[in-house]
Amino acid sequence: MTSADKKVEFYRHSLQDDDVAEVERVLRSLFLTTGPVTKEFEEGLAEYLGRKSAVAMSSCTSALFLCLKALDIGPGDEVITTPMTFIATSNVILHAGATPVFVDVEPDTGLIDPQEVQAAITDKTRAVIPVHLYGHMADMRALHDVCAKRGIALIEDAAHGPESRRDGVAPGELSVAACFSFYATKTLTCGEGGALVTDNNELADRVRKFRTHGMSKDAAQRYTGRYQHWDMELLGYKANLPDVLSAMLVKQLGRIDSQCAQREAICKRYEAAFSDVPGLDFPKVRDGARSSRHLFTIWVPAEHRDEALAQLQDYGIGVAVNYRAVHLLSYYAKTFGYKRGAFLVAESIGDRTLSLPLYPGLSDDEVDAVVSAVLEVAKSFA
Ligand SMILES: *Cc1c(COP(=O)(O)O)cnc(C)c1O
Repeated sequence: MTSADKKVEFYRHSLQDDDVAEVERVLRSLFLTTGPVTKEFEEGLAEYLGRKSAVAMSSCTSALFLCLKALDIGPGDEVITTPMTFIATSNVILHAGATPVFVDVEPDTGLIDPQEVQAAITDKTRAVIPVHLYGHMADMRALHDVCAKRGIALIEDAAHGPESRRDGVAPGELSVAACFSFYATKTLTCGEGGALVTDNNELADRVRKFRTHGMSKDAAQRYTGRYQHWDMELLGYKANLPDVLSAMLVKQLGRIDSQCAQREAICKRYEAAFSDVPGLDFPKVRDGARSSRHLFTIWVPAEHRDEALAQLQDYGIGVAVNYRAVHLLSYYAKTFGYKRGAFLVAESIGDRTLSLPLYPGLSDDEVDAVVSAVLEVAKSFA
């Protein structure tokens, strides 16, 4: 079978007529860029998370980067993060001119290990960026204990979903800020987009300036009333989210929990089917945590992973790898001299992981097709 016979797509978005109607309404209005609809979305997101402010941006990458800039983190500073993530997390540290310091992850979740964070802190450590991998929050209470007393900023890479909760904590609650992605495959999507959410209104204002060139007035303020002069207060960037894209998110936000519950039900079926299969494992969700269930990954023996990826695609199942350990990718390995063995747990997960289709639109038959293909492929692991 070839990929032309694909039975189950790796990802399909869940946009509905409501969302399309919102976009059309904006397209037929006067104002396309960042204005009232983006503001409405920002307020809705902040409220959903119980936080004071949200700033919508062009991507989570921009949100993380502008957060570092707004905190004046740059050359000479160290930022601790995890190698088990998408490259954006550590790339923004480099773009800010700071030094990424990787630490290893927990073997059962793949999440940054707070004890490893504590051990890596130096006089130069200015921030820690945990990643809520697959939507399972890192141990924010432990990380907060480690960081708060030393004045180190915690910045959450919450690209895998605003739905994540753990030990009664929401993203943005125990950190300086949490950053989200609305990229094409994320739980909440407008194709490309992101946001920073924080309880610190001053930080939000600074990031809001950074997102449009450091200008003192945004486009809505400049053009929707009588013309007003603006000033440039700091050297900013261009990373705003236009109303056309925000329009896709406003109604989706109202479905965020029901869509999360649909993904949870699919994960429960996967977990039931894959428990007690020799050679097959998957990351655990800790007690007290609600995962956003952005991705469902299985762990297979490293020597079988690439073959399993090929076989699943032969069965018509869309797959992906989230993620191979960042420090071993060419640029990081060359620039920083990382070699295999630097972060054993992250490397092991990176060698064994394989992501399966997971989205609300997945039908029961499709889930069955994925399960039977995986069980077939797993026969060669035993
Ligand atoms: C998707 C993703 C990002 C980047 O999000 P963009 O909106 O595409 O910039 C950052 N971190 C993680 C963990 C991601 O999965």
